[in-house]
Amino acid sequence: MKIAVIGTGYVGLVTGTCFAETGNDVVCVDIDTTKVQKLSNGQITIYEPGLEKLFLRNLKEERLRFTTDLEDGIKEAQIIFLALPTPPGEDGSADLKYILGVSDQLGKILKDYKVIVDKSTVPVGTAEKVHAAIKKNCKGEFDVVSNPEFLREGVAVDDFMKPDRVVIGTSSDRARKIMNDLYLPFVRQGNPIIFMDERSAELTKYAANSFLATKITFMNEVAQLCERLGADVDMVRRGIGSDERIGKRFLFPGIGYGGSCFPKDVQALVKSSQEVSYDFRILNAVMDVNEKQKLHLMPKVKKYFKDNLKGKHFALWGLAFKPNTDDIREAPALYMIDALLKEGATVAVFDPEAMNNVKQLIGDKVTYSESQYDALENADALIIATEWNEFRTPNFLKIVTSLKNKVIFDGRNLFDIAAIRELGFYYESIGRAPAN
Ligand code: NAD
Repeated sequence: MKIAVIGTGYVGLVTGTCFAETGNDVVCVDIDTTKVQKLSNGQITIYEPGLEKLFLRNLKEERLRFTTDLEDGIKEAQIIFLALPTPPGEDGSADLKYILGVSDQLGKILKDYKVIVDKSTVPVGTAEKVHAAIKKNCKGEFDVVSNPEFLREGVAVDDFMKPDRVVIGTSSDRARKIMNDLYLPFVRQGNPIIFMDERSAELTKYAANSFLATKITFMNEVAQLCERLGADVDMVRRGIGSDERIGKRFLFPGIGYGGSCFPKDVQALVKSSQEVSYDFRILNAVMDVNEKQKLHLMPKVKKYFKDNLKGKHFALWGLAFKPNTDDIREAPALYMIDALLKEGATVAVFDPEAMNNVKQLIGDKVTYSESQYDALENADALIIATEWNEFRTPNFLKIVTSLKNKVIFDGRNLFDIAAIRELGFYYESIGRAPAN
């Protein structure tokens, strides 16, 4: 099939590459000239495990190309995916200016029948708005389909190639057949393609992300209780996770969820609810708890240093909002850095992939280290904000010799309490007793 993908960010680039990988001809369109130039020259623009290999192969096979010219990009395409940003507007609702702007342009250039697919996360009713925006100028035939994306950054290629499910919202039989044919190679193991109406598909995505954000937040609150009641959240997690109705996944407490999706999607669903006079109370609580959770380590740090962080120097491991990505949008680490700097401390950071993005955002407010161990030089304590695998079994001898004090504040519960106690560290984590 011939496919166009408009917007070549995390979702668009993975979508375009994976569709090319299954033999389709894909053109990716983006307004960012530098990005398009880099991608056309074989330079990948995001870090995502496994993506570069597929990207280079399909570029070489000429099944994947990049352009800034929308008309050129879509002219051959049967299916046009919109993988455009839907950032929060001032009031927290999803800003549809990118989606509707491109829809408006599409209306002016569509000639033969095409399926326009919303892959972005968009509020209920957006398919109708996209349809209207295209229809305004368009005489040709087209269908608008809602096909929300469920990939997780860090495992995006696997998620796309072997999705748990594909959700397709459409009321058109013609579009349904095309979408079914397109996705069949991805569900050969038997996972479902679930067809539904457009509105239900749109809500499915928000409900999924909001549920996951709620699950994490619930565990973060359980962790708070554990700290106050002398229970161990790891034990409680294992105890409840073995119940199949609860499940083992997504029960790990930490310093809050971040990223480009959960924070904005929870907020957007709250806003959508308000618009239909419904107060989605549980989600308001989720947002409130998560905001505070990002700084959950700060009182512990301050208490240890007797409320005076002025002149103290910290090593911070992990900047990305989660491991295996360079994405720092709404990353809890950034909130920690901000709070430490405000207290008069200095920070040396290390992240395997996200340092450049942080440099672009906050420049020289922190020191960027060559390695996780370099960051420790002369630091008063180590703070861990992201659970990268390489932080899980570090060389403790190096930590001991580099740090000024044997002190670790761990926002991701990476270490075994008994083992770290034996090594003589003062160690604070989430929902577990401190080791000292
Ligand atoms: P992104 O910011 O990484 O990428 C968006 C791209 O669109 C950018 O490259 C930008 O230059 C481009 N763009 C903006 N305006 C354009 C225009 N007029 N024409 C062409 N290109 C244009 O965003 P993302 O993370 O890929 O997210 C895209 C959508 O997918 C959002 O709605 C998001 O909520 C949703 N989503 C994201 C993820 C994720 O993990 N990132 C997962 C599922 C769904």
